[in-house]
Amino acid sequence: MKYIFITGGVVSSLGKGLTAGSLGALLECRGLKVCTQKFDPYLNIDPGTMNPAQHGEVYVLQDGTETDLDLGHYERFTSSTLSKKHTLTSGQIYSSVLQKERNGDYLGKTVQVIPHVTNEIKERIYAAGEDADVVITEIGGTTGDIEGLPFLEALRQLALESEGKNVLFIHVTLIPFLRAAGELKTKPTQQSVAKLREIGIQPDIIICRTEIPISDDMRQKISLFCNVPLKSVIEELDLKISVYELPLLLHSEKLDDIVCQKLRIETQECDIRPWENVVEKIKFPKQECRVGLVAKYLDVKDAYKSVYEALSHSGIFNDCKVNVEVIDAEELEQAEDVDEFFRDIDGILLPGGFGNRGIEGKILAARFARKCRIPYFGICLGMQVAVIEFARHVLSYADANSTEMVPETSHPVIRMLFDQKNVTKKGGTMRLGSYPCKLTPNSKAFASYRTTYVNERHRHRYEFNNDYRKAFEDHGMIFSGINPDFDLVEILELEDHPWFIGVQFHPEFQSKPQCTHPLFSSFIAAILERKADNKTN
Ligand code: GLN
Repeated sequence: MKYIFITGGVVSSLGKGLTAGSLGALLECRGLKVCTQKFDPYLNIDPGTMNPAQHGEVYVLQDGTETDLDLGHYERFTSSTLSKKHTLTSGQIYSSVLQKERNGDYLGKTVQVIPHVTNEIKERIYAAGEDADVVITEIGGTTGDIEGLPFLEALRQLALESEGKNVLFIHVTLIPFLRAAGELKTKPTQQSVAKLREIGIQPDIIICRTEIPISDDMRQKISLFCNVPLKSVIEELDLKISVYELPLLLHSEKLDDIVCQKLRIETQECDIRPWENVVEKIKFPKQECRVGLVAKYLDVKDAYKSVYEALSHSGIFNDCKVNVEVIDAEELEQAEDVDEFFRDIDGILLPGGFGNRGIEGKILAARFARKCRIPYFGICLGMQVAVIEFARHVLSYADANSTEMVPETSHPVIRMLFDQKNVTKKGGTMRLGSYPCKLTPNSKAFASYRTTYVNERHRHRYEFNNDYRKAFEDHGMIFSGINPDFDLVEILELEDHPWFIGVQFHPEFQSKPQCTHPLFSSFIAAILERKADNKTN
């Protein structure tokens, strides 16, 4: 097994996750089996309890683990399906060490960061790979952070254990451009590498994030001061069009060659064509459309990361540039003229969410889409909102609601899942992860998936109330996807509408640039069809 560790220098948000994912993509293009893993030094057990406005979306794995959004990058860039083993926080490490201490597992020893915490970290690295050829582990945060130290120490020990043979360190760093001086500066990088070397880690490769190309002199300087060979100074220019350009960019800098040489891995030639095709499609779309994303976390694209990515995949699939316009659900709630918000919008997407804020605005959006026959895609809360809207305005249950919003509503069309009723703890307690769904023949959902059974990932506490199923069906709602084990509504759609689909799960977590999720691709296809019809009429 070969191990690649990716650390970050100078600042956070350098795109280490994208770099790790792209390296994974390149190694797969060389025929290797890759597994990618993320360590986050914060003390939360997982990001499930964090605010998406601060931390970005909570990504959900097939096994129900709630993780950092970087795991989403890894799954989108590689063919892997990740699990609990591929995400680790300081919170989990300390909690496990303390549990073992209480169980008496340390046999009377003094429990310390070295070796007990570091051993725990190493065990998780060794356990990650199973049948992979290469394990890529990204360390969150920035070199020099106090909470990251035990992780770096564990990596140093692991390199020592492998006698330096099977381990490679990549340091992703920023080369800032000082506008006033008109030049790039390498000093912060020198200092962050010095910090790593102080800990006992000598990076093998330096990946330099930069706004403008780095000159040969600059590369020489970084090589000299950071003690890495010149060819191992890799330039990672800011991407102009799409994150999916990154594998191509890193390949042109020979990153995969250098990694394989250093780790002494013999592989086939790198077949980069699938990524070239993806980028080609993104660069030269044949048409455009506008999707209105009715949301409450504004200006924080990361809060809906996978939704944005899945929309871009459906653009690749449909040869179309999908422009996303964020519509503030709270503003919509106050609006005098709702139509105004949707003037140039070709389709409406309502993503997942929690709580009351902006909920009435979201209901207005669903109503607008239903009445004006605009393609509507409701995801999780977006499905629940469509149900509330239908109950209020088609079935005339004026105060219909979800018990999440109004517990005492007389028409609880969305209610808490049975097994959630006695749950008091917040972390990891929702209905999480992959569940099966059986599709109804002749439905739009079936036509999109073209199969009868699918598995989709969930993260919610509330569900459609089956007591209302008949009333909804009698008025034109089709329940086109049902969980066969518990008879829960997973997908619903309107009979008499070009494309109005709500799903209780999160399809965005299973979309990849080379394999768009079928519901996302058919949503955009419906938008394009409607646009074409409008033109001819
Ligand atoms: N708040 C809703 C629930 O818990 C929807 C959750 C979501 O959109 N992920 O059921």
